[in-house]
Amino acid sequence: MVNFLIFGPPGSGKGTQSVRLAEKFNLTHLSTGDMLRAEIAAGTDLGTRMSSIMSRGELVPDEVVIEMIAARIDNTEGSEGFLFDGFPRTVAQTEALEKMLNKRGMKIDSMLVLDVDHDELVKRLVLRADLSGRPDDRDPAVIENRIDVYRAKTEPIIEFCRQRGIYQPVNGMGTIDDIFERLSGFVKKFL
Ligand code: ADP
Repeated sequence: MVNFLIFGPPGSGKGTQSVRLAEKFNLTHLSTGDMLRAEIAAGTDLGTRMSSIMSRGELVPDEVVIEMIAARIDNTEGSEGFLFDGFPRTVAQTEALEKMLNKRGMKIDSMLVLDVDHDELVKRLVLRADLSGRPDDRDPAVIENRIDVYRAKTEPIIEFCRQRGIYQPVNGMGTIDDIFERLSGFVKKFL
């Protein structure tokens, strides 16, 4: 099994690229954002509790997403590995993921980080709001808050991964196809 983190600020295109990479390389795509939105859509107790946090652009508690991911890792068969999207988002989540994988004889093999200019991020999120219907894409103040939360809480993971020698920056500007080609080139090296 080969395990990738796909990383980048909100609007960097992680979700779009993850779906395509998972299909091309037979990876299991795990998106905590998608899982949380599914909980909300299903009207579960957890979903109801998390929805106000998400609508403000804050992070849900580490334990919530760690438990979600742990449950999925043990229920997956037949793929080449995992592609983690939107998780981990804090150093504590990264340490928990590393432990989970190590216990099962796996590790984080590579962290692919999409680099995108700030103005481009805001532009993409505003455009996406019309298509996705996501409430957290509609309010510019919430968008700015999500980017701030990314810089403050999530970016420190880059240093963690740099120390482990698994940090791989990727140019996230250009067309979806261009970016997909760049990412595919890095993924291929591991498979
Ligand atoms: P984005 O496109 O903004 O990166 P996601 O779909 O990954 O969005 O996540 C949407 C929201 O779900 C986040 O703003 C946060 O509130 C919550 N969330 C998703 N994943 C995590 C996580 N790993 N830890 C904490 N909160 C999370």
